[in-house]
Amino acid sequence: MTNTFRGVSFFVRRHFMAAPKRKIITLECTECKNRNYSSEKNTSANAERIEIMKFCPFCNKRTKHKETK
Ligand SMILES: [Zn+2]
Repeated sequence: MTNTFRGVSFFVRRHFMAAPKRKIITLECTECKNRNYSSEKNTSANAERIEIMKFCPFCNKRTKHKETK
């Protein structure tokens, strides 16, 4: 009885740890504040906010795009 319970809780914990932590994020232009891109990121591998250079059609140039909340 006790051994079975331990086995199950171990399996559940492992199952949750193996599940990929993926999140849809929106990338906002830091200059005009338009949300131009959406992306998917692995939150466990990259916990910090993303900042990338991307082309903004509103600014008509490459600007820094930041992950929104
Ligand atoms: Zn812009």
